[in-house]
Amino acid sequence: MILLLLGPPGAGKGTQGELLAKELGIPKIATGDVLRAAVRDGTKLGKEAKSYMDRGDLVPDDVILGIMREKFEGDETKDGAILDGVVRTVPQAQGLGVMLAEVGRKLDNVLLFDIDDEKLVARLSSRTVCEKCQHPYRDREPGTTCEKCGGMLVRRKDDEPEAVRNRLRVYKEQTAPVIKWYEDRNCAPLKIDADGSLEEVLRRALEALKKE
Ligand code: AMP
Repeated sequence: MILLLLGPPGAGKGTQGELLAKELGIPKIATGDVLRAAVRDGTKLGKEAKSYMDRGDLVPDDVILGIMREKFEGDETKDGAILDGVVRTVPQAQGLGVMLAEVGRKLDNVLLFDIDDEKLVARLSSRTVCEKCQHPYRDREPGTTCEKCGGMLVRRKDDEPEAVRNRLRVYKEQTAPVIKWYEDRNCAPLKIDADGSLEEVLRRALEALKKE
């Protein structure tokens, strides 16, 4: 199964993606994680992406589509994948569709995590992530220790208020039109109420998928 997760920054796509990956036994692929790892490792990709990411702007579509092609030409996605944070523009949605067709695959479902703006700003500005394994936490201070791997929790640079506002603006302008794009192509996103405990939101997502 190839499942795509849509929704504004802070809606919980990353966490739900991890839970769904475990539940469905397929890997989660998050372009944000791939890019942050590239920035940390100082690769050519990381150097190209860093300034866009720090401002909360989108990295160019061809860079993202290159990452996706590599993933779908490799073994990692042979049983399926949960795509988190990709696609974020209509050209990415088009490019992904073409690329998947070229490798004989197709997108099965799109889940849309839906939540109010005020809740997003509050969530993002209180979020910390592990600098080692990237696991996000809603209620832990920077400098404390990750439960999963013992790494240190830090605040993401793009979770600072200015970058958060920019990311929400970018979502509305560039990513929200992707919802209609899929609706027009008979792949209407399944809307999930993302306001709730992790368990509740996961249950809603699994129920929506079961009905398909
Ligand atoms: P995320 O972890 O999904 O919030 O992504 C963090 C940042 O990485 C974004 O603000 C963008 O700068 C960049 N990024 C991640 N995925 C994409 C994508 N599909 N298209 C463009 N930029 C992306």
